[in-house]
Amino acid sequence: MLTPKKTYQQQDTYPPMSDLSDLLRNVFGFDGFRSGQQEIVETVIRGDNVLAIMPTGGGKSLCFQLPALARQGVVLVISPLIALMRDQVRGLQSVGVVAGALTSANTDAETQYVYDGLENGSLKLLYLAPERLGSSSTFALLRRYNISMIAVDEAHCVSQWGHDFRPDYLKIGELRRTLGVPLSAFTATADAETRDEIVERLFDGVPPVTFLRGFDRPNIHLAFAIKDNPRKQILEFADARKGQSGIVYCATRAKTESLAKALEDSGHNACFYHGGMDPDDRRHVEARFAKEDGLIVVATVAFGMGVDKPDIRWVAHADLPKSIEAYYQEIGRAGRDGAPAETFTLYGAEDIRLRRTQIDEGLAPADRRMADHGRLNALLGLSEALECRRKTLLAYFGETTEACGKCDLCDAPVETFDGTQNVRMALSAILRTQESFGAGHLIDILTGKATDKVRARGHEDLPTFGVGRALSTHQWNAVFRQMMGHDLIRPDRERHGALRMTDAALPILRDEQKITLRMDSIRSARQTPKVKTLVSEEDAPLLSALKAKRRALAEAADVPAYIVFNDKTLIEMAQERPQTLDDMARISGVGAKKLATYGAEFLSVITGAADRVHPTRRKIAGRSEASLYDQLLEAQADLARGRDGTEKPLSCSASLLAKVAQMRPRDHRALERILGERRAERFGQAFLDVVSQAG
Ligand code: ADP
Ligand code: ZN
Repeated sequence: MLTPKKTYQQQDTYPPMSDLSDLLRNVFGFDGFRSGQQEIVETVIRGDNVLAIMPTGGGKSLCFQLPALARQGVVLVISPLIALMRDQVRGLQSVGVVAGALTSANTDAETQYVYDGLENGSLKLLYLAPERLGSSSTFALLRRYNISMIAVDEAHCVSQWGHDFRPDYLKIGELRRTLGVPLSAFTATADAETRDEIVERLFDGVPPVTFLRGFDRPNIHLAFAIKDNPRKQILEFADARKGQSGIVYCATRAKTESLAKALEDSGHNACFYHGGMDPDDRRHVEARFAKEDGLIVVATVAFGMGVDKPDIRWVAHADLPKSIEAYYQEIGRAGRDGAPAETFTLYGAEDIRLRRTQIDEGLAPADRRMADHGRLNALLGLSEALECRRKTLLAYFGETTEACGKCDLCDAPVETFDGTQNVRMALSAILRTQESFGAGHLIDILTGKATDKVRARGHEDLPTFGVGRALSTHQWNAVFRQMMGHDLIRPDRERHGALRMTDAALPILRDEQKITLRMDSIRSARQTPKVKTLVSEEDAPLLSALKAKRRALAEAADVPAYIVFNDKTLIEMAQERPQTLDDMARISGVGAKKLATYGAEFLSVITGAADRVHPTRRKIAGRSEASLYDQLLEAQADLARGRDGTEKPLSCSASLLAKVAQMRPRDHRALERILGERRAERFGQAFLDVVSQAG
């Protein structure tokens, strides 16, 4: 255990700021506070009641963990899920803080450790499962020890109207009164109703000092694409990020299973997750995901709150989420460690129809349904946005920002055109056919296709027949989708999804208002995604070596990789290349304890890296095949013991790899000629993937 340099004897002497920075540096290894953390930490230490609303990944835990080190006594932490508590306890212990949990999943040894720590005063944080609050013995136990404050994680679980309600959370208010200590509540849910409920139930209605941190997650890249062979789109996205942990959200259970299979078939480590699986299987997937480096989980939204993994590198949506809030929450699971993370959301006219119908057919009262349509509209507005996605997203939450430079629209601005005339043509076709038809038939009319259905209804005589010949069917589909996205038309569930005009369309129909549409979605441009790496080509081999070291250490200790070091820390190591332990200590995420435990091992990876580069690799340095060589090397490392890690070790010589990088074989036979049968069988598919992605 690492004892903080000073102890504070009285609760009313607060450590000066410089000491807090020392603790932050020495224990957690962080260079500085994230936005908002410092104010919260100071207020918590002062002993005020606090309500802090911060986005996922904002670093809420530190806001009670650091005060626990700076204050006397034990900080009692209430957290809704056993898995989350265990993760935090493990993380704290790994940086040398004495912390423990009392849950139903404890071993006797764990429970003994907690009681010993309480008795001898070394325990700084005690995590308690909410169901423990139900028993009076818990209150008696807690009164016996010096509990200095209560921290409530995921405080929105106290809200009876939210989806994460935990009845046991209602007892927290009573506990606060019994112990007579300050309480800090933390949540990522910011709506006013939930906030009021938290104040009511946890603070007896007396407003605490409240912090509302902005919603932005600057390390998350945002991107949307129109569905166009969605399975292929998701596979391509995942292929370009091979070996990184990710989540694919799907709208249906069946799709999670088929997509997981497709990913497996193309060489990914993937599994599915949905609410229809039995609880054991679900827990198994959760545990695998927490631990394994590079697993992809294809899931319905049931895969949610228990997902606390900080190094999820990407989140993709194979179907459009149900609202802008759901979207924000789901993409928010990526990149909690602060390292770059990516998101990719697919959408199409079918999604819009599905989500509208779900709302209309739901059991919610009418005003609630209206509100749900509004939340969906906000998401559709984001998918059809014409400028910076982040600006559009944050605007919904009432924040203003500049164009971000980290979204698809900032990367490649969209071309737009004045769509007013096209939209008016479409509206006219809808109205002249009594709002009774779907897009397919309406487009036949607009493009002048005299199908049987068109003739049978006499629609070739309409003045609108053929007025839209200038656009193809495909382009008209894009116009209709964007009209749905702008909520100008909606499918009518009473008429089997026939499109109806909404009031929002009236000003356009009357030519009082113009509408701008996106060109790109009409032109349907397609390009193969480039392989995404977290660092420059030059640093990539070192990063893979550091990751391999991390994997070995994590496996030996039977902990998730991020408990050793998270991605952000390894990326910084690969870029900064510390040469001494002192340099190493300056890397973010390397605190005193971790420096002592792992510093030397990672240092030797870095300093040894220069010598260990194979002469063959050194020869091709700077050439185009160099990066290919490194990727082949990494693919080979993943398969050294076969796909399930149980086969005989096998590898290729450096010159064989260099040959593959140089000759870029396109099929299995060509590859087999270079590698021979045995190696081609083990590495063939993976190598061919690497080569084909390199283009
Ligand atoms: P959440 O707000 O979602 O509960 P966490 O408390 O789990 O977020 O923190 C997310 C990640 O950010 C963790 O991996 C944590 O170690 C890291 N983190 C928190 N504060 C800092 C900081 N000041 N500097 C660097 N990393 C930080
Ligand atoms: Zn942007």
